[in-house]
Amino acid sequence: MIHREPHLLPTDAYPRDEWNITETEIRPQFLGRMETMFATANGYLGMRGTFEEGRPATKSGTYINGFYESWPIVHGEYAHGFATTGQTLVTITDGKLIKLYVDDEPLDLERAALRSYERKLDLRAGVLERDLVWETMSGKHVRITSRRIVSFVERHLCAIHYEVELLNADASVVVASQLAVPPPAEEGAHLKDGKPDPRKAPKLPGKVLIGLDHFAEGQRAGLSHATENSGLRVACAADSSLETACRFTTTSSSTPELAQVAFDVEARAGNPIALSKFVAYHHSDHESADELAARAGWTLDRAGRQGFAVVAAEHEARLAELWRRSDVEIDVVPELDAEIGIGIRQAARFNIFHLMQASARVEGAGIAAKGLTSDGYEGHYFWDTEIYAMPFLTYTAPRAARSLLEFRYRMLDHARARARAVNEPGAKFPWRTINGEEASAYYAAGTAQYHINADIMFALRKYVAATGDTDFLAEQGAEMLVETARLWAAVGFFSEQRNGQFCINGVTGPDEYNTVVDNNTYTNLMARENLRHAAMEVDKLGREDPERYAALATRTDLADDEVATWREAADRMYVPYDAELGIHLQDDSFLNRKPWDFENTPAENYPLLLHYHPLVIYRHQVSKQADLLLAMVLLSDDFDEHEKRRAFDFYDPLTTADSSLSPCIQSILAFQVGELDKARGYGIAGLLMDMGDVGGNVESGCHIAAMGGSWMVIVYGIAGLRDYDGRLRFLPRMPPRLSHIAFSLTVRDNLIGIEINRDRAVYTLREGSGLSVWHEDEELPLSPEKPCQERELVPPTVAV
Ligand code: BGC
Repeated sequence: MIHREPHLLPTDAYPRDEWNITETEIRPQFLGRMETMFATANGYLGMRGTFEEGRPATKSGTYINGFYESWPIVHGEYAHGFATTGQTLVTITDGKLIKLYVDDEPLDLERAALRSYERKLDLRAGVLERDLVWETMSGKHVRITSRRIVSFVERHLCAIHYEVELLNADASVVVASQLAVPPPAEEGAHLKDGKPDPRKAPKLPGKVLIGLDHFAEGQRAGLSHATENSGLRVACAADSSLETACRFTTTSSSTPELAQVAFDVEARAGNPIALSKFVAYHHSDHESADELAARAGWTLDRAGRQGFAVVAAEHEARLAELWRRSDVEIDVVPELDAEIGIGIRQAARFNIFHLMQASARVEGAGIAAKGLTSDGYEGHYFWDTEIYAMPFLTYTAPRAARSLLEFRYRMLDHARARARAVNEPGAKFPWRTINGEEASAYYAAGTAQYHINADIMFALRKYVAATGDTDFLAEQGAEMLVETARLWAAVGFFSEQRNGQFCINGVTGPDEYNTVVDNNTYTNLMARENLRHAAMEVDKLGREDPERYAALATRTDLADDEVATWREAADRMYVPYDAELGIHLQDDSFLNRKPWDFENTPAENYPLLLHYHPLVIYRHQVSKQADLLLAMVLLSDDFDEHEKRRAFDFYDPLTTADSSLSPCIQSILAFQVGELDKARGYGIAGLLMDMGDVGGNVESGCHIAAMGGSWMVIVYGIAGLRDYDGRLRFLPRMPPRLSHIAFSLTVRDNLIGIEINRDRAVYTLREGSGLSVWHEDEELPLSPEKPCQERELVPPTVAV
């Protein structure tokens, strides 16, 4: 159940438009939310959707993925192995600033009289556009249009086209194109209703960006900075050029805090003044500021030779290629559409667009919980990437999926060190991190989530099955498999109390309202997969590629009997089950906790984590998010429909969905047990997490996991995909009041289209040499000769 009211905008807030999100007025109370929603990013560089003029703004965040500052975590009471260094994504130089003055009057959108206003995020072109007419105090009408992109082609580049036109009079116009160091975060920026909100980033102490260099010459200006503790450097530089028939002069100036190129124009009515601004960011942990500034200069030179129109067109073409593989359609009947008040297809595309923005050029970094739309959760990478974003990427953008797995591989030495710190062999991936080190200061709901090891290996397996990238598996995957399996073998033990079964005690599963528990079923089952997968791949390598096997054994110091131990641990894995109730247990003692008094919990007390001491929550039978239900979704074939049904009936009412990661999973399991109304309800809640601000905190950034989860609802929920070992089987279930879905999947160089209407499913091979898919239990070969197969849907049955 979801206890919160969606924080929906008025239903006319976003006009229905399949490819655009449009804002027709500036609503001060939704400023922060729109900054998040209108963020432009490419996986490397991200800018919140604040105005070029700088104000009004709740948070003018500009971020580079992985550009963080570290700080010592001060534990009131330290214990061995606690994480010691915090990491926080840094708000870097704001390069998109363009200040406008007409007859010396600044355009201040908080106070300006606007005769018209429209701001639009064009999801197809990847452009944030604005068009407004401002009436100055003296009655002059000024049309201002702007277009902003963060390029998918040039990952270091942001491009802005800003045009000003006097409509009814001449005027003196100053356009000042600026780069500015952001003001420090306000005190209390991490508070919600006066109380600390752990989901927001705390203020970094002191001055975060140390000035290294600044310059302004002609139309180019730049600022370079370093962080004090993490030792990173960033150069930001911009070229600003003006095109107009009006006369103008140019001046440029710089200080360590602000660099600008200003144009003073004798504007004549009817003569547009067009500013093209290119901003480039380069960063490094070892290059000098000069080198980075030179690189920024080359990026700008290249963009300047092309001009805004070409840069924008190439960006759009790159996006079109991504959309071709990842577009989804989802339609509901008109009555439901009216009830929801937000276009469902539009919301689905909005989510996909943000997933692309978080991942397209991620190369070498991870995906933060909020992507690059804000510094919520301090910009940390969690399991969100592997379990929620990777399914989408694996099947629509396999290159990005591989890059994320490579990123984990590059963290392996840190993970090994972390395992030593928690007194274990093998590797322990950090629960939350930017630089590879554990940054979770709260071990119970952080470090204790050992399942992240298995989550990453789960994503690896899906990736390899869908792409056939066995080279990656043999070169990098196998080493991660060995080290993660090794950790499980050491953390668990064969318990005499449980007839020699393999138990994993003292860990936290996905549900952060039940921490440091024994035998969390999700963890045990995912660890079992991890152990089996490792044993299988190591054996296979030994048989098929002795050279690589030998290299792996040397690199990991693999002992002869290890693989057998992993197999045994997997085969004897303990899975807690209550025979009387006929349900799998979330963990050993879940049934022995006090029932939460849902009836007397007022709606404003959700999420519980902001209103109750953790110990109160931990001693109750209440879940923050899908846990056992998630195991049933990910390892669907390990459970029969009756087990799923009973688990759903038991756990669903206890799940508050205080985490945005929950509704999508509740939806998918509801599909599997035939609860189609609930499936649709949860699915819509997940889909609207950001556009409908279901959790009430979109201002702190997009919920990338929920966005990936909403894709999973369409593919794994409605279309009922079961994908084991690269075999794609669909069990489509169309819930009442949904009329149509369509999406594409990329599988081993084939592009297949899946379209489902109320009574039929159509599978089409769009590209590639062909493959089989399964509809229910029937194999359907798709080939270039017979690319299309159509089947009737089976009527839904409710599992009992
Ligand atoms: C959830 C975690 C998630 C994190 C970041 C928390 O609220 O409980 O599962 O990884 O948010 O999205």
